[in-house]
Amino acid sequence: MARYRGSVCRLCRRQGSKLFLKGDRCLSSKCALSKRNYAPGLKGQDRRGKVSEYGIQLREKQKIKRTYGVLEQPFRNYFYKAERQSGMTGTNLILLLERRLDNVLYRLGWAASRPQARQLVGHGHFLVNGKKVDIPSFLVKPEDEIGVYPRDRSKKLIKKLAAGNAQKGISPWLEVNQENLTGRFVRIPEREEIGLDANESLVVELYSK
Ligand code: SF4
Repeated sequence: MARYRGSVCRLCRRQGSKLFLKGDRCLSSKCALSKRNYAPGLKGQDRRGKVSEYGIQLREKQKIKRTYGVLEQPFRNYFYKAERQSGMTGTNLILLLERRLDNVLYRLGWAASRPQARQLVGHGHFLVNGKKVDIPSFLVKPEDEIGVYPRDRSKKLIKKLAAGNAQKGISPWLEVNQENLTGRFVRIPEREEIGLDANESLVVELYSK
């Protein structure tokens, strides 16, 4: 299972916007972007000037890809899948990414960030419809029940994380019972509900060249 292993704060600095990859740290004064709001690297502070149309499209694609923690080829596969669905390809793309199990767990408040959710899934802490799932890219469907593996270690860990994230609130397309540690993916969200500050139509333009 390939994944990016470098500094995630570098990705935000490259992007010039917060991607929220480090949980609570992203909301604190320790956020690298609030201290060094310029691109990483020796010439990071000097890089200015006009960005080409291609550059703008590329940055937007990178923003979405990195927010959801997806590498290039899987991201392209999501795009092709979105293209085959009816409706707007860009919106379909975001809705597919939202259905990833690691993202759903992050939204349920059972992980402080998507990278942490991905790790917890890989360690086998979760069930979908009563079956253990350890694939972060697993696509959750409406009415799927999400639970925590019934062993003390998993329950204690997720309860602690859920308590830490309690103030974040739950997305309207999800239901959660933090006592029993059960969640439900009620429906596919609307694009406007997702609150992702990205222009996915630029990704469609980029991949359609
Ligand atoms: Fe990005 Fe979070 Fe690092 Fe800030 S702390 S730069 S938001 S990953």
